[in-house]
Amino acid sequence: MASAAHTCDALVVGAGYIGCAVAAALAAAGVRTALLDRGPIPSGASRANYGNVQVQDAELAHSLPMVTAGYRRFATLEAELGCSVGYRRVGSLLLIETAAQQQIMAARLPTLHAAGIVAELVPAEHLAELEPLLDYRRIAQDAILRPMAACYHADEGQVSPFQFMAAFLRVGRRHGLAVHPHTEVTGFDIAGGRLVGVRASAERFSAGVTILTTGAWTPRLGRLLGRDWAIPHVHGQALVTERSDLRLNNHLSSAAFFEAMHAGEGDASAGETRPASAVLAVAQTADGHFLLGEAGASTEDLGAHATGQGQAAVAREVMRVLPVLARLRVLRGWAAPVAFTADSLPFLGPVRDLPGLILATAFKSTVVVTPLVGDAVAQWVCTGRTDLDLTPFSPDRKMAVE
Ligand SMILES: Cc1cc2nc3c(=O)[nH]c(=O)nc-3n(C[C@H](O)[C@H](O)[C@H](O)COP(=O)(O)OP(=O)(O)OC[C@H]3O[C@@H](n4cnc5c(N)ncnc54)[C@H](O)[C@@H]3O)c2cc1C
Repeated sequence: MASAAHTCDALVVGAGYIGCAVAAALAAAGVRTALLDRGPIPSGASRANYGNVQVQDAELAHSLPMVTAGYRRFATLEAELGCSVGYRRVGSLLLIETAAQQQIMAARLPTLHAAGIVAELVPAEHLAELEPLLDYRRIAQDAILRPMAACYHADEGQVSPFQFMAAFLRVGRRHGLAVHPHTEVTGFDIAGGRLVGVRASAERFSAGVTILTTGAWTPRLGRLLGRDWAIPHVHGQALVTERSDLRLNNHLSSAAFFEAMHAGEGDASAGETRPASAVLAVAQTADGHFLLGEAGASTEDLGAHATGQGQAAVAREVMRVLPVLARLRVLRGWAAPVAFTADSLPFLGPVRDLPGLILATAFKSTVVVTPLVGDAVAQWVCTGRTDLDLTPFSPDRKMAVE
């Protein structure tokens, strides 16, 4: 078959949150840009999440400038994009269930406060005021769950995931962005030690710079380049209920969230998706559906298949804390592979020894930094520098576990 050839200045591979924002920022900066995805748009983790603009759970050593600047961008984002992304302010409650978790959360506060993130520890008896649905008196009798406290941050938010990505694509297209769904990158072209393009389906794309925003699929592409990028993933599962008049004031999650998510017991070599544990993650859409998750297992499965075991584990975990939701019907469930790193830092920046290649992937909380990352990559491509210090996020760094 004759292969079609495309030429552009910048090629963005992977059209999730990050890819859409990067492609839009590049196109708006006057860079001739193409955006490719192996599936429909969106098809990765970005079509499977709650859209929470998370702040207080940030990685502390290097990520606070990115997270705080990223959060500030949301105040003006809709005006800049010229349309709604469904943005609204919502608080966040991280439930603390053990003395060890309480110690960890308390130790985080001075650093958060120094960065202007006014999170606070709230004793258990005040939880009912902040979140009446928690029904604290009832769950306090539960021998398993005795929330000792929570870490509360009033100033977080939520977007509508699909509106968010559509807004970036609209801006990009207005500036000439070419979008190619169902176009899977299967090879790279290197000339004179520089990455000069990719092979995708029956097509060839030549580009001055290629940006991989491929989430959990990034290690696969790295192997084609002889790289061994340490980006594992979990298979995250969630459920959505019917609409309800019950109102949740905050995103609810557990202080043990990331610890539990990354400690899956599935046999990765067998491609299993057995959820080792479900951790609390509850949000509500603006129109009243409850989003319940997550069960996570380390696995090699990059698919979107929910498992009965995982879905049941999610429901059980949520019922421990919000028994009032038991009367709601579950409409459907889903799963998606979510990339992470051992040091909780993203892979963001140029790849050493391979000019023409940039990575932007594996963010700890992606939504909050999405617009900022788009700007940062476009600034790097256009000027060779960024306002944001990318050094700690280098894809070539030696990884220290957080
Ligand atoms: C239940 C659940 C709830 C969550 N809630 C939140 C939340 O509230 N807030 C938050 O910040 N995060 C949340 N997350 C995590 C969030 O979904 C991810 O961090 C985020 O979507 C990652 O975005 P991304 O653009 O980096 O990657 P992805 O959205 O995974 O995009 C990568 C894209 O690359 C494409 N691709 C891969 N390989 C190729 C190839 N060879 N050629 C072409 N295209 C390719 C894929 O098809 C995919 O579309 C949640 C996750 C889950 C599972």
